[in-house]
Amino acid sequence: MKKRIYLDYGATTPCDPRVVTAMLPFFSKRFGNPSSIHSHGQEASEILDKAREKIAGYLGAQKSEIIFTSGGTESDNTAIKGVAYAYRKKGNHIITSSIEHPAVIKSCASLMDQGFKVTHVPVDKNGIVDVNEIEKAITTETILISVMHANNEVGTIQPIEDIGKIARKYNICFHTDAVQTFGHIPLEVNKLGVDLLSASAHKLYGPKGAGFLYVRKGTRIKPFMDGGGQEMGKRASTENVPGIVGLAKASEIAFGEIKEETERLRHLQQKMVQGISERLQDVGLNGPMGKRLPGNINLSVRYAEGESVVMHLDQEGISCSTGSACSSSEHEPSHVLKAMGVPDDLARSSVRFSLGRFTTEEDVNFVIDKLSEAVNKLRAISPCY
Ligand code: PLP
Repeated sequence: MKKRIYLDYGATTPCDPRVVTAMLPFFSKRFGNPSSIHSHGQEASEILDKAREKIAGYLGAQKSEIIFTSGGTESDNTAIKGVAYAYRKKGNHIITSSIEHPAVIKSCASLMDQGFKVTHVPVDKNGIVDVNEIEKAITTETILISVMHANNEVGTIQPIEDIGKIARKYNICFHTDAVQTFGHIPLEVNKLGVDLLSASAHKLYGPKGAGFLYVRKGTRIKPFMDGGGQEMGKRASTENVPGIVGLAKASEIAFGEIKEETERLRHLQQKMVQGISERLQDVGLNGPMGKRLPGNINLSVRYAEGESVVMHLDQEGISCSTGSACSSSEHEPSHVLKAMGVPDDLARSSVRFSLGRFTTEEDVNFVIDKLSEAVNKLRAISPCY
């Protein structure tokens, strides 16, 4: 069977075998409900407690500040709607950026339908939010700032620490979507100055359907789901114990290997960008080479449609994407590239490769070859070339 190369780690990651091993007993042997008072339940409750403590430790947080959720989307919704509803009497204005994930964009849109006002702060051509624009957008009604830590399409890392200082100065709650960064770059909530932070296990070699929201002590959120009093009354529903065990194990592995893995991925990233630029003309990197996630490469391949490139590569056994997994099924050019001022034709010719834990140098060489072949074929039949 033909070997497949997976270069879409930004969409999801395979569960690390060490994570699967850690999770297995919690499906059928150690299956208790953490809210039950008997021994099965108490065992599960202790396991949750340990996982909470471990995750809090990586963030420099307290364990009571970690709420387990079903993943990034739920964490973003809980942070944004939860703060909006809890602080409604104080004000009705939210500031966010123009390059957020749909989980943030659509949470804000839903609040706009309910009478909240939302300012979408622009980004520069590198996809970086201008901190001064955030400060300028603040009004007496502002109750929340939500800016992602790193963008899922172009991988740009945002100046969260600087935004955190502004949020502090005006005493405004600050949320960051760290789904692409937790486990990939070191992050500490106090250093970043954030009050809320979202993360998701399946982006760091853990299972799908598990994640958490960090909520700083003293920050109020009104849960939007009604039900039991789990997660300190902040998130109803029986906790996904195997998923949470997987999330904790995945975090342990990721933070344990973070330095070496970052260096390895940076090397592969540079090699791939250089290799492609030596083989193909009219290919541009979207976003800067510095301030971006170590595994992310987002290219615009002029005179070739991004979708066609992805399909050609798929036939060669390579999985990559156009933009994010979420926007690549919608046929509009990416809102992120648009916000960066990339013209529509170049936005439509964008391809995202995201490298990860199981990517090798050999994979990178193979992909450079196959990408060059695919682009040359597509350009040969393009009327514009
Ligand atoms: N936020 C960002 C930046 C993401 O990349 C994703 C997933 O692609 C999400 C949120 C949603 O996370 P989940 O799939 O866990 O709901």
